[in-house]
Amino acid sequence: MSSTDRYAKLPLLTENIRDKKTRPKTVAVVDEDNCTGCQVCIPFCPVDCIEPVSKEKYNIPIPPVQVRFNECIGCNACAKACTALTWDAIRMIKTDLVEERYNTTIK
Ligand code: SF4
Ligand code: SF4
Repeated sequence: MSSTDRYAKLPLLTENIRDKKTRPKTVAVVDEDNCTGCQVCIPFCPVDCIEPVSKEKYNIPIPPVQVRFNECIGCNACAKACTALTWDAIRMIKTDLVEERYNTTIK
């Protein structure tokens, strides 16, 4: 893939943080074992729901990031940015499955 093609697929950076209004069909899940912690995805998230995992969990200088599932609107911007610019460490997963896998409730 040429670099022009790669950057053409990038979402716009977020200028104004929005709020979630409806339950999304999918939410973003970070593969923490594959994430470099570069934080490139963070400014692309329109609801600002991506954050570094606490340093206590991994005890490494640059921890991976995680998504606060209940705030994610399923827009896919972070996954596109990660794939185009860094490491392809984010997958969009069905909300029902995420609830089951992480034993959580997403409104
Ligand atoms: S852009 Fe990808 S590799 Fe970088 S912090 Fe985000 S999920 Fe991790
Ligand atoms: S899918 Fe959209 S709302 Fe959810 S974490 Fe990624 S950028 Fe943020």
